[in-house]
This record gives sequence, structure tokens and C-alpha cells, in this order.
Amino acid sequence: MSLELSSLLDASLAIAQNSYAPYSGFKVGAALLLSSGAIVTGTNVENVSYGLTICAERAALVRAVAECGPGLRIRAVAVANLNNAASPPCGACRQMLAEFAEPDAEIVFFADDQVRSMRFAELLPLAFNTNMKA
Ligand SMILES: [Zn+2]
Repeated sequence: MSLELSSLLDASLAIAQNSYAPYSGFKVGAALLLSSGAIVTGTNVENVSYGLTICAERAALVRAVAECGPGLRIRAVAVANLNNAASPPCGACRQMLAEFAEPDAEIVFFADDQVRSMRFAELLPLAFNTNMKA
């Protein structure tokens, strides 16, 4: 793994400390590397109405759009958790990331006690897309 991806993974692990997960105890952090070189992090935020919970990846994404504008592109994503669990992005996050991730963006996460790395197009083939952007 490159130093750049290793640093991104470290950033995701660090931000996981800020997770708000009083119901599941599953503390997740995500870090996005944008084409500008900026790194934007996010963490999961749970809610007593469980369905309102937002994942770390989507939290990072909405923060990135707010901070960097709608034209951002994602070059890499790292996801880590403090629970030693496999943590590839969930289906909802994959679809949200599809809007901004380059097809060859590297997605790095833990699975089976190892760091896995995949291209975004491998992680979400055939993402839903209407091609209706104005
Ligand atoms: Zn998710």
C-alpha cells in the first residue's frame, strides 16, 4: 500500500475516535482523498431512531461537498473501525460515493484482519445512474 493510502487509512482510524455510536458501539471513521489533494474525514452518527443513523462514509461525503463544493472528485476512500470488524462501505454508501468517485478510485478497508484495497468500479459495478445531471 502506498504511503498516501496508508496516511488516509490512519486518518480514518483517528476520526473513528469521534464516532457517536451509543447504541451499537460500532465506531467507524472514513477519510476521502479528493482530486485536489484535500483529505476530508467523517464518522458515523447514530440516532435513537435507528434508521436515521448516518455512516462515516456518507458523513465524510456531505462534509466534503459542503467544504469543497459540488465539483469535487474522489481519488481514494479509507474506512476503519475500532471494533476489529470487516468494514467495506455498505450499499447505501457505495451508491452515494458513486456520484463523486472516479471509477479507478482506490477503496481501502479492513476485512479478515487484513487491509483490502479495491477499485471503486469493482466495489460497485453497475451503479444506478440516470445520466440526468444538468
Ligand atoms: Zn454506509
